[in-house]
Amino acid sequence: MRGSDRAEKRGSDRADVVICGAGIAGIAAAYHLAVRRGITNVVLVDERPPLTLTSDKSTECYRNWWPGPGDAMVALMNRSIDLLEELARESGNVFRMNRRGYLFATADPARARRFVTAAEEAAALGAGRARVHATASSDYRPAPSDGFENQPVGADVITEPALIRRHFPYLADDTVAVLHTRRCGWLRKGRTLLSAMPAVFVTRKKPPRRFGRLAAELSLVRAMSHNPTT
Ligand SMILES: Cc1cc2nc3c(=O)[nH]c(=O)nc-3n(C[C@H](O)[C@H](O)[C@H](O)COP(=O)(O)OP(=O)(O)OC[C@H]3O[C@@H](n4cnc5c(N)ncnc54)[C@H](O)[C@@H]3O)c2cc1C
Repeated sequence: MRGSDRAEKRGSDRADVVICGAGIAGIAAAYHLAVRRGITNVVLVDERPPLTLTSDKSTECYRNWWPGPGDAMVALMNRSIDLLEELARESGNVFRMNRRGYLFATADPARARRFVTAAEEAAALGAGRARVHATASSDYRPAPSDGFENQPVGADVITEPALIRRHFPYLADDTVAVLHTRRCGWLRKGRTLLSAMPAVFVTRKKPPRRFGRLAAELSLVRAMSHNPTT
């Protein structure tokens, strides 16, 4: 065997990091290790093709609206959404991340008061400011259908009927309040997200013998620090 063949063979069954599972969690970890941390030899091991167990079933909604207990989920989601936004900017938003928010509506006045409390509690946990719009001239800012830049965070509660009708004419006439949580939205399915991470080079090949009996079922996904197809 030539020296270069031996080196190639060695390279194919050795890795600095091996990640078990090529769902979105494994692929995101591989991307960050390979691209952001410069670890060039990262291998994902999975018996299935990438993003085919749970990660292709997701609705792909995201939110920092996690009203407790505690602020752990809000902190985790704020950081995760920061990373998603970075990826969207770097990729020209190929996965169409938007910031439409989540909308909760009620015809029950008691529930309307609860919307205000929930928005204030979420603000205290770090989700962003609570704004209550109780007059028709209030400065409520509707969300654009596409894009995510320069949008408010936190939550808007609208309790003024004319303002509700103006912005949400499709809601029932007896709606007395809406809660619009703002650092929320959705994006395109996992494989589109994968295309924003060109450093994750997806290849299915026969894995090394040392994976034993499972070897025939395993697929390997190698994460590179550059796009090997270019
Ligand atoms: C219907 C539905 C809707 C959802 N909607 C949303 C949503 O709107 N927003 C949201 O944030 N989340 C949503 N989720 C949740 C989200 O999809 C999952 O949290 C996410 O996909 C989990 O990703 P994962 O990489 O951890 O797991 P998976 O995608 O399940 O990947 C795990 C991988 O690990 C492999 N594996 C397991 N054991 C081993 C092993 N021993 N060695 C090697 N590989 C192994 C599996 O084969 C699999 O490929 C939804 C989920 C479902 C089912």
